[in-house]
Amino acid sequence: MSVLEIKDLKVSIDTDAGEKEILKGVDLTIKSGEIHAIMGPNGSGKSTLAYAIAGHPRYNVTGGTITLDGEDVLEMSVDERAKAGLFLAMQYPVEIPGVTVSNFLRTAKTAVSGEAPKIRQWVGDVREAMDALRMDPAFQERNVNEGFSGGEKKRNEILQMELLKPSFAVLDETDSGLDVDALRVVSEGVNRVHEANDLGVLLITHYTRILRYIEPDFVHVFVDGRVAERGGKDLAVRLEDEGYDRFLKAGV
Ligand code: ADP
Ligand code: MG
Ligand code: MG
Repeated sequence: MSVLEIKDLKVSIDTDAGEKEILKGVDLTIKSGEIHAIMGPNGSGKSTLAYAIAGHPRYNVTGGTITLDGEDVLEMSVDERAKAGLFLAMQYPVEIPGVTVSNFLRTAKTAVSGEAPKIRQWVGDVREAMDALRMDPAFQERNVNEGFSGGEKKRNEILQMELLKPSFAVLDETDSGLDVDALRVVSEGVNRVHEANDLGVLLITHYTRILRYIEPDFVHVFVDGRVAERGGKDLAVRLEDEGYDRFLKAGV
């Protein structure tokens, strides 16, 4: 069993107007096999939290700690974090011109596991994962995310997750912009890896819709760089009815 522990995390970014604090003390503990949903209005710092966990250089950690089984994650490079079992599905996946999906996946797998995957097994694994995500095998020869639709980009993120087999995945609005069919396929992918690998999931979302397919054990409401309220999945149901107004008006 693994534990990802975030304590009193403070993160700021450099802007033209100077340094701006975005995360103002976040506490969060995720264990293997747990699904945590982070819900909150736009601009509340959800993606900042995701990037801070993944180690994006633009986000300066000014206080607090992130540990994985007691190891200091903040001391690790982006590569080391991936090797340690952390995975981020980005809200806005980036295009990588000149790099095919196939090459990207094999390179990432080699980097994360420390050795090149056995080719025959690997080819089968990729095909199976793409099949499960209803992705056309022809995507393997396309450049990563280049000309992909929103839904195709999100499927491609989940494809990486299926093949890299992380111990913790941060999914940043993987649901946004998906139609119902794509949402179901992507959710099934998350549930599959969750079941098979005891994946711990940090599911960042603005909407409750995805929580009909992926059942959270815990829900955290994120407002203005902090967790404003915590609960079980019933909290998500309440948010669906009430929205975030209550939290915004309270000025938390
Ligand atoms: P969320 O994902 O909850 O919508 P973000 O983490 O993306 O929120 O953003 C939190 C706040 O930080 C917002 O006010 C946003 O404008 C600001 N912010 C985030 N990234 C940047 C950036 N690279 N440059 C300037 N402001 C940023
Ligand atoms: Mg579970
Ligand atoms: Mg965001």
